[in-house]
Amino acid sequence: PATPQAGAPQTPSAAGFDVNLVRRDFPILQERVNGKQLVWFDNAATTHKPQSVIDRLAYFYAHENSNIHRAAHALAARATDAYEAARQKVTKFLGAASPDEIIFVRGATEAINLVAKSWGAANIGAGDEIIVSNLEHHANIVPWQQLAAEKGAKIRVIPVNDSGQLLLDEYRKLLNSRTKLVAVTQVSNALGTITPVEQIVALAHSVGAKALVDGAQAVSHLRVNVQAMDADFYVFSGHKVFGPTGIGVVYGKKAILDNMPPWQGGGNMIADVTFERTVYHGAPARFEAGTGNIADAVGLGAAIDYVEQLGLDNIAAYEHALLEYATHYLRTIPGLRLIGTAAHKASVASFVLQGYKTEEVGHALNEEGIAVRSGHHCAQPILRRFGVEATVRPSLAFYNTCEEVDRMIAVLRQLTRR
Ligand code: PLP
Repeated sequence: PATPQAGAPQTPSAAGFDVNLVRRDFPILQERVNGKQLVWFDNAATTHKPQSVIDRLAYFYAHENSNIHRAAHALAARATDAYEAARQKVTKFLGAASPDEIIFVRGATEAINLVAKSWGAANIGAGDEIIVSNLEHHANIVPWQQLAAEKGAKIRVIPVNDSGQLLLDEYRKLLNSRTKLVAVTQVSNALGTITPVEQIVALAHSVGAKALVDGAQAVSHLRVNVQAMDADFYVFSGHKVFGPTGIGVVYGKKAILDNMPPWQGGGNMIADVTFERTVYHGAPARFEAGTGNIADAVGLGAAIDYVEQLGLDNIAAYEHALLEYATHYLRTIPGLRLIGTAAHKASVASFVLQGYKTEEVGHALNEEGIAVRSGHHCAQPILRRFGVEATVRPSLAFYNTCEEVDRMIAVLRQLTRR
């Protein structure tokens, strides 16, 4: 369907890995939907799991299952070792200085809520300002709004240009001595824009503010180094980086975490308890009250091993070429408007199609076995900035292919012919 044309982008076959071999690692890609082989273009919502992650979860429950830290028996030691090994893997994956800077939580949403409820409650006061960007997912808006309402603080918003990139000059104008926190995404889930996080963090620091980077859409597509970025907090979800659901991460600089109050109380996070007072552990245990998601943390460790073995640079190069390919052919569809055309993008090609509701396009694609998200993507402010309430959002991962893109383009062509 997408016949090669003059000026068409190179297909990403020359990348550092063989996509057909990689696809064999993901059993779900063999599923059939409406009689057709599944095409998974909903990677921004969640990613699929390689067999190594599925096997690691089964191995944990078959051979290691125990609560961690507390008991003297062999399985407690195995479970604790596996859990702490996963923390080490995350440390290395993010380029953090120490595993003490890695807190396991349920996902990016809980991660941001932890920072808001703990650091935010202790450090944001009346008249203070929190800067977010127009690109944010609701998870990086609502907790700050709740905090601001509680404290009498103010939310300021970095605007975007017509391509969906942040306007740094406008951001500079928002910064002042009342700015206490800048919370921005590294990759937009709705448009795919890659934001200049190093500059954003440095500018936040220039007025004495802290910076939180939402890496939910970044870690599966780009090599991340939190020390090079100098982020004070960095958060992500395991399920968006080929790991299990129910596990995610807060990275925080040690000196900051050590001065943050706990946000939940209970077992695991205490050094000593009497009825008069409690002495808390340091980070990260202080922020991991109760029995956490042990097996899924271990599964996340296996997912990190998997992407590290493919190589983040190989992944980024392959996906960049695939996104260029998809964007090129989407532009050939009459009546299709791409939403988000920044020069630096990852994975996402959001669009609306003249004459069709976004869910109609989603259903037509599903008829052919192709899964895309149609809706507001939990990012209503940025869609409204572009005058729409919803888009169709194919979002690509390294296991997707040009042939799959061709199948999507063929369905869209069919629709425009009706
Ligand atoms: N931030 C961004 C940019 C996201 O795309 C998402 C999920 O789509 C989240 C945060 C929230 O992640 P979760 O639902 O896994 O907590």
